[in-house]
Amino acid sequence: MVKAIRGFNDILPGESGLWRWFESEAQRVFETYGFAEIRLPVVEKTELFIRGIGDTTDIVSKEMYTFPDRKGESLTLRPEGTASAVRAYVEHKQYTSPLTKVYYSGPMFRYERPQKGRQRQFYQIGAEVLGDASPAADAETIAMLMDFFKAVGVEGTLYINSLGCSSCRPVYKIELLRFLGVHTDELCKNCTKRIEENPLRALDCKSPKCREATTEAPSIIDHLCLDCNKHFDDVIDLLNLMKIKYHTDHRMVRGLDYYTRTTFEVKAEGLGAQDTIAAGGRYDKLVSELNGPDTPCVGFALGMERLAIVYNSNEDANKPAPLDEPLIYVITLGKAARKAGMEIIKGLREDGRRVEADLMGESVKKSMKRADKLGAAYALLLGDNELEEGKITIKDMKAAEQTNVPLDKISTWLAERASKKA
Ligand code: ATP
Ligand code: MG
Repeated sequence: MVKAIRGFNDILPGESGLWRWFESEAQRVFETYGFAEIRLPVVEKTELFIRGIGDTTDIVSKEMYTFPDRKGESLTLRPEGTASAVRAYVEHKQYTSPLTKVYYSGPMFRYERPQKGRQRQFYQIGAEVLGDASPAADAETIAMLMDFFKAVGVEGTLYINSLGCSSCRPVYKIELLRFLGVHTDELCKNCTKRIEENPLRALDCKSPKCREATTEAPSIIDHLCLDCNKHFDDVIDLLNLMKIKYHTDHRMVRGLDYYTRTTFEVKAEGLGAQDTIAAGGRYDKLVSELNGPDTPCVGFALGMERLAIVYNSNEDANKPAPLDEPLIYVITLGKAARKAGMEIIKGLREDGRRVEADLMGESVKKSMKRADKLGAAYALLLGDNELEEGKITIKDMKAAEQTNVPLDKISTWLAERASKKA
């Protein structure tokens, strides 16, 4: 037998309201920090990611969906948003304004082994500050992320580190290489292979072998140059001033090549092995590497699937105001009533109310059953007799009580009911 086709990742009708709420809370919080939305394409030239993310990273070396277009040009479904945001910044010369702050949301694609909190198509919300070198930009970006988590009632723990810059990191790399050289046999295959090109990866590797082998590795924080050290201290001071709690984690190197100085992650409970819901950092070289002028930047991305898992596992979370309008079920009896009913339904929908109706003239009993099954809050009954009197019967399904309401007062009555219930 031919097997049923499985999709990548569906956000079902029952879940999508939560996603929309996450996005609207992000929009609300981010805009109070002066960010504006950018809508980026889901497909880019492959070269962007190779140059932007780096070809020794997991993403570029094994996770991209890459294919030739009709003319043979290599395209890739975006695995993340930062490279695209920077490409757009350079392409549209946004650097002519002194500061650009953008946020985005949408699907990302990575060829990974699907498991809890890891999909091949997943959704991110991200934000980028382009054109600000100050530690305040790092601290504000982190503050904004933590404000967002607070707004959606999700508790996250912040971890922060510095990766230094092009003057101090190479010195650290040599130190680390020297250390790893003695421990090569204890590393996983992947890390052994890339050790020369990118020894920092070994610190971030999830394999228990590498974790064990690098416990005594030299720490980046002891190798920062004066400027990087000051930058890190300033970020920490600002976080303290803003009363943002954090832990330092000097092993955190993140999976992307473009980071310089500050990197951070937010972890949450209830996720199992994939416990990071958001990650970001400073990337001062990426714009110039993609042919723009020297532009210091900082940003982050958070995973919406993981956010939803944490949110749903927390009973006390700020539940969003119910997104759904109470359902109204309209039942009509007789020809004239049906015609008048059509007008009523149209009017209610124009008022923004959610309406289902029996348009096929089923019996009242059957229609009431269906209204109940659909979870209707109100059933509106209109027969030819009521129509003559200019009235309709409204049944409150929960309270099991009914009232006669003049036809031109339906909306007023429903609104009064709603405000009484609220
Ligand atoms: P991980 O170590 O969990 O693979 P990463 O370093 O690859 O994360 P980033 O590229 O920094 O993650 O992406 C930021 C966030 O996007 C992650 O913290 C996570 O919440 C989410 N994310 C990344 N990859 C996936 C995926 N395959 N499925 C679901 N969410 C993901
Ligand atoms: Mg990953």
